[in-house]
Amino acid sequence: MPVRETEAIILRTYPLGEGDRLVSFLSRSEGKLRGVAAGARKPRSRFGSALEPLSHVRIVFYERETRPLARISQAEIIESFWGAQRSYGASMALSLIAEISESVLPEREPSDTMFRLVLAACRAIERTGQVALPVAYFALWTVRLGGWLPELDRCAGCGRDLSALAAWALEDGSGVFCAQCRPPGTRALGIEARAAARPMLRESLEKLETGGAGVPPRELTEFLLDLVERHSEKKLQARPMLELEP
Ligand SMILES: [Zn+2]
Repeated sequence: MPVRETEAIILRTYPLGEGDRLVSFLSRSEGKLRGVAAGARKPRSRFGSALEPLSHVRIVFYERETRPLARISQAEIIESFWGAQRSYGASMALSLIAEISESVLPEREPSDTMFRLVLAACRAIERTGQVALPVAYFALWTVRLGGWLPELDRCAGCGRDLSALAAWALEDGSGVFCAQCRPPGTRALGIEARAAARPMLRESLEKLETGGAGVPPRELTEFLLDLVERHSEKKLQARPMLELEP
């Protein structure tokens, strides 16, 4: 029954039993896990507000081989994003980030890159109050790390460079095509949407912000969120509430 201590991001919590909480969290050292925080719903719980979604915490837990759920014994806040939660738009964007992480990340597969990505997106929303760029950036990298991002600027049919040409993407994201190769069932993915993705694949979110990157076209974000929904086989509940600029 080894006790583990790691940084974690709380993704979602559910009431459990009389006064407990079932907590899904992304741990830095072991990936996504689920655990029980005994007594977390009782007044003056030792967990305080550390188990609120998207709190960045230091968490202590242990596991027993015969039980599927970890037992959480401590959680202390390192960083929270309550400032952003005061705005409706920002709090919906944070909910979407938590929901995507919860639905696409496999259990017990640590990914430091994914951990840092979630934090970077939350910090950007907290810092700027803007959601369009952090959500697009988060979705783009989630799709890329999941291995579902097609090559955006090369035709999957003939191989021609599409960076200055109209293009169409298959709904499942398996390819982007030129006008000649475009198969049935594709949707337009414009030059601007694909151009906006290019710097996002090269630069950090913070660098894009300070460099004055504009609002990415909504078409790009919708394309990426469609891929997330398709691969997780779930509709994202926070998505209809997301306020993106056109
Ligand atoms: Zn082609």
